Amino acid sequence: MKGFLTAAWHAMLYSIARGEAWQRGRGLFRGLWALWFGERAGGAQAVRRLDRCRDCFVFNAGLQTCGHPTKGPYWNDPVTDEYLPMGCFCHMPTKVKIKAATCWLDEQTGGNDGWDEGETTV
Ligand code: SF4
Repeated sequence: MKGFLTAAWHAMLYSIARGEAWQRGRGLFRGLWALWFGERAGGAQAVRRLDRCRDCFVFNAGLQTCGHPTKGPYWNDPVTDEYLPMGCFCHMPTKVKIKAATCWLDEQTGGNDGWDEGETTV
C-alpha cells in the first residue's frame, strides 16, 4: 500500500505542475474502481505482466512504476510535440491485477512493444 501511495503522490504532483490534476485524479479513481469492483486478472496473467514490466526500459524499479515523472526516460511526445517522461506512472504491482489494464508502450507502438498479446488479453 505504501508503494502505491508513493507512486500516486509522485504522479499527482507532476500532474498538478502540468495542470492535469483533474485528468490524473479521474484516472486514479477509475483504476481503483476497476480494481475493487471490476474483473481481476488471473494470477498467472498478472505475474506475466509484471515480469514484462520489470524487463522494460520504461519501468522505474525504485517506485515500481511505469516510467517516472522526473527521472524519465524521456521522449518527444508525437501528440503534443513536447519532450516528456515516458510511461503512465502507474504503480505496476497494482495495475497488473486489473484485467482490463493496458500497457503504455503497447499503446504507443501499436502492439509492437510492451506487454504481449497473452498479457493484454481480457
Ligand atoms: S510500458 Fe508497458 S511493459 Fe513497460 S513498464 Fe509500462 S506497462 Fe510495463
